[in-house]
Amino acid sequence: MNPTLRKPLIAGNWKMYKTVREAVETARELVQFTAAVNVDVMIAPPFTALAPVAEVVRGTSVALGAQNLFWKNEGAYTGEISPVMLSDIGCRYAIIGHSERRQYFGDTDESVNAKIRAALQHQLIPVFCVGETETQREAKETFSVLDKQVTKGLEGFSSEALSGLLVVAYEPVWAIGTGKTATIDQVQEVHAFLRSLVEKRFDNLLAKTVRILYGGSVKPDNVTEIMNMPDVDGALVGGASLSAKGFNSIIHFHH
Ligand code: PEP
Repeated sequence: MNPTLRKPLIAGNWKMYKTVREAVETARELVQFTAAVNVDVMIAPPFTALAPVAEVVRGTSVALGAQNLFWKNEGAYTGEISPVMLSDIGCRYAIIGHSERRQYFGDTDESVNAKIRAALQHQLIPVFCVGETETQREAKETFSVLDKQVTKGLEGFSSEALSGLLVVAYEPVWAIGTGKTATIDQVQEVHAFLRSLVEKRFDNLLAKTVRILYGGSVKPDNVTEIMNMPDVDGALVGGASLSAKGFNSIIHFHH
């Protein structure tokens, strides 16, 4: 982590958990815990809870994120949610290309690219997820898989368009929700690779300022060593973000 160049971001992905009442309750608790925090904090509740949670977090240190979006502003797209709707209720971030969406809902590098473009057009910070599967890692394809995901996902953007906004989340698929965390050396190796890839595809300024989060079974007891790696600028947390208390101890990782 290099806090002078990149403010840490701790993001919670609540996935398909919590009713409105539960989401509002957790958000209220979290707001109390994080009154004087010096990192960026984001939570991404399910769509049904976004608007009520927006009321709870307005004017606090907790920012709101969506777990997905569609790239059109409006239209006959049954079941989809547009970036206009998300900005309208106060979302600041959108998680894009999460491996669960790529795995179960047909998200591709091309649709991820369109979603990132739509997010940027509506001042939503894209949290662009990339990561290899276990089979790909075993076949030593990690770097080529990540190269393809980053290159295609960010195709057609200028460094200026991404500057100060783009967040990349490295989430090895085999570490999500499995309790298996990548070793800190594996994490640092991939994060350094991703940063050099951003430099190669864009420029040194974007490489130095882009925030690269790690995701995959981050918990209160492993967050500190992960955050101490020089190229880790934050965490995308699934399971451990569901309790305000647990998530709060991840947010206060520097002790
Ligand atoms: C995630 O959903 O992005 C994630 C990293 O999940 P977990 O922390 O539960 O592994």
